[in-house]
Amino acid sequence: MRTAICPGSFDPVTKGHLDIIGRAARLFERVIVVVVVNAEKSPSFTVEERADMIRRATAELGNVEVETFSGLLMDYARHVGATAVVKGLRAVTDFEYEFQMALINKKLNPTVDTLFLTTSAEYMYLSSSIVKQVASFGGNIDDFVPEQIAEEVKQRLCAKQ
Ligand code: ADP
Repeated sequence: MRTAICPGSFDPVTKGHLDIIGRAARLFERVIVVVVVNAEKSPSFTVEERADMIRRATAELGNVEVETFSGLLMDYARHVGATAVVKGLRAVTDFEYEFQMALINKKLNPTVDTLFLTTSAEYMYLSSSIVKQVASFGGNIDDFVPEQIAEEVKQRLCAKQ
């Protein structure tokens, strides 16, 4: 069975992420969304909260699973037998970092390829940090995050003010 992993911080998951996950789910038999613990970022939601939000948002996608992981992604890929990492590319600004990661990962685990899916045009501007900024000022985020999680994100981030 062809398995791909979609890694990220997903703090919180956006419609841009969901678009990439859904497209990966059409290309692969099994997709594992991996919420990665990143010590350099200070997240608004715990990894479990983030994973739970993605589970709700992807409940209708039968071949998508959601897990959390701390460590080397290529070790995780080996552990689950994944042959690909699927990532979304928004703009040239994403490219340099993603290119570096793809090359390092290839070196660490040559059996895994990184595939880049071009963002859908309507989500090109969308990032978790933009969503958090808008929500923190009480702005409408309904166009930016999956409807299953919109209320939770609004309540959490607005309450912080
Ligand atoms: P963010 O930059 O939003 O914190 P993550 O680390 O959670 O992103 O991103 C996980 C993956 O999702 C990355 O490959 C990133 O490029 C991709 N991604 C994030 N937002 C979008 C979007 N709006 N369109 C396409 N891909 C996206």
